[in-house]
Parts: sequence; C-alpha cells; structure tokens
Amino acid sequence: VAKVPTECVIGVDLGGTNLKAGLVEGSLAVRARVERVIAGLGREELLDALADAVAQLRESAEVEVEAVGLGIAGLIDSDSGVVASSTHLPIAGVAIAEVLSERVGLAVLADNDANVALLAEVRDGAAAGEHVALIVALGTGVGGAIAFDGEIYRGAHGAAGEFGHIVISPDGPACGPGCRSRGCLEAFVGGSALARDACAAAERDPAGALGQALADGRVIDGPLVTELALGGDATALAVLTTLGQWLGIGLLSLANVFDPDVIVVGGGVSAAGDLILEPARRVLAERAPTLISKHVEVRPARFGARAGMLGAAILAREAAAMTPLRRRGKVAG
Ligand SMILES: [Zn+2]
Repeated sequence: VAKVPTECVIGVDLGGTNLKAGLVEGSLAVRARVERVIAGLGREELLDALADAVAQLRESAEVEVEAVGLGIAGLIDSDSGVVASSTHLPIAGVAIAEVLSERVGLAVLADNDANVALLAEVRDGAAAGEHVALIVALGTGVGGAIAFDGEIYRGAHGAAGEFGHIVISPDGPACGPGCRSRGCLEAFVGGSALARDACAAAERDPAGALGQALADGRVIDGPLVTELALGGDATALAVLTTLGQWLGIGLLSLANVFDPDVIVVGGGVSAAGDLILEPARRVLAERAPTLISKHVEVRPARFGARAGMLGAAILAREAAAMTPLRRRGKVAG
C-alpha cells in the first residue's frame, strides 16, 4: 500500500509567457502539473486561467490542498499586497493574492518570482545551509533575490534584490520595457541582450556557424548560441564569454555590497553553464577584495525551469505551517 502523502500545496509560477502550476508534496515531488501559454491574455482572462489551473490541480488531488503559492514576474508592494509593476503581465494594480484567494477559496501567498526561486535554492538547492545567499536569474530580463540565514530579504517595500537594474555602464544600451534607466546589467546579460549581441556578431562573421544560422533564417537565441558555442563556433563562444564578463562585473558589485557565501546563477540563459560562469568567476577573482574572492562561490542553480513553481510551493507550505491561514490572500514579507 502506497504511503499516504502529507498534505499538498499548489505552487504556481506566473511568468511573462507561461503559467506553470504543480501539486507539490512536502518532499518537493510534483504529483500533477498544469501548464499553459498566457502571453497576450488580458487581465480577466489571466485571472481565469490562474483560477482554472488551481481548480484542475485540486480536482486531481486525492488529498486536501492546504494553500496556494504564487511567484510572479513583477514587484508586489509588501504593505498593500498590490502588484506595483509587472513588465509582461497585465496585473499591475491588482492585489493578486487576495483576488485569487477569493476565486479559489484557499489561502494564497504571493511573492516575486526571483524571491521564490531563491527560496527553493536555499531550502534544498545550490544555496542550502549558506549564511548569505544571492540569486541572479538570467531570463529574458534579469531578476534577483537576497537571503540571509535562509530568510528572503525583501527590503522596506518589497522591491529589494532587483539586480538586473544595477547600472554597469551609465551610457550603455537601453534597458528592457518598464525600466527608465539604461546600461543596466539586464541590458548586457539578459536573454534579449544575448540575442541582440549574437545577431550583431553573426552579421560581422557571416561565414561562421552563427552567421550561417542567421542566413538560414534561424531564430538567434540563447539555446542556439549555447549549442553552437559547445559545437566549437568561435563567434558564438566569444558572445558568451563577453556576456560572462559583464555578468562578472555585475556580480563584483553584488559581492562588494553583500560579501555573500554564494551567488546562484539561474534562469534560461544560465543553461550556458561554465561558458558564462567561468568568465564571471575570473572577474571576481581578479577584481574583488581577496577576503571576498577567496570565499565567494558562483554556482549554477539546482532548480531550472521548475524553480518558480517549487519555490512558490515552499512559500505556501511554510506560511501554512507557521500560522493557521485564513482563506485570504497574503503577501510574503
Ligand atoms: Zn533597467
């Protein structure tokens, strides 16, 4: 007879393009999952999709669902619970946890997606047991989060850890949509920046594999550049090396501010692994104070595409364990 699992929670990763939801056990095993494309949905459609995903998972569960955790690509005002800004989601101004809780009749905890990704890494991943841990999440944009002794630090208003918007070149390229600055880390090491730089490199070297891919009409993105670099294409490799060096410049500032034990690098672009992490580590080794450089470790994230969903589940489970949750929305912090 199969052991009856402990109560489950539902973890939801609400990214700019996809909604990924899972019914998650205490062991972080995922019993069921729902995934759908949400790009282009309006506010009401998006809230419907969220509520539907939760309802589907609840139906599939043979156990009581305790709570729902939600990691969103956006900033949540920690006082009001209202989404203050989100580049790709039409939910700015919405008290997302409260609204979803009303719809599904369960307690809902919401937090920024990088915060929940780091929560997963500090509980059971690349930053487990560390005193001071940071994550830099290299997606289309660049997110970040901070943890001290296993607790996420969210700042005075819920906006701490926005490492993507550290300015590393004041006159540098424009940053992503929603950012008023330029020359931000995101403008050098995010997925959009990688695609931009790779296209420029392909045009300069039309005979190389990257140039050939461009001529063939292939989409020049992170996975393709990584594939070509691993295949030995010097141009693709140079693009990733340069990206890794810029990442290192960003990590150098973080290292000087936080003196961390570990900086976890996650997100889709981090699939390039040591092709970008090694150049970044070299910058730290050469430029950081030795007291920092001899200790700090730059590690790949353990939880790749599942980080948001699992971290959101952990957020919900821990909140449920701490206090009896009223059936209403709550923001982490
Ligand atoms: Zn920016």
